[in-house]
Amino acid sequence: MKNPLPYLYRKRKAERIWHFCTNCSNWPTGTFDCDEREIRVTTPNLCQECKSLDAEGKCVKSP
Ligand SMILES: [Zn+2]
Repeated sequence: MKNPLPYLYRKRKAERIWHFCTNCSNWPTGTFDCDEREIRVTTPNLCQECKSLDAEGKCVKSP
């Protein structure tokens, strides 16, 4: 990934996978049981669906 911008990542506290597309079918909604981070670098535990959405240019990122 070149020139990564900071955007919001979300993770359910019970899980280890981070999501970064709000249109991912597994995007955690609600904040009560979620961790939120702004991350500039690629993290090792990224959601596969988010990655493929991003690769197709369909990922809707949270600002
Ligand atoms: Zn995802």
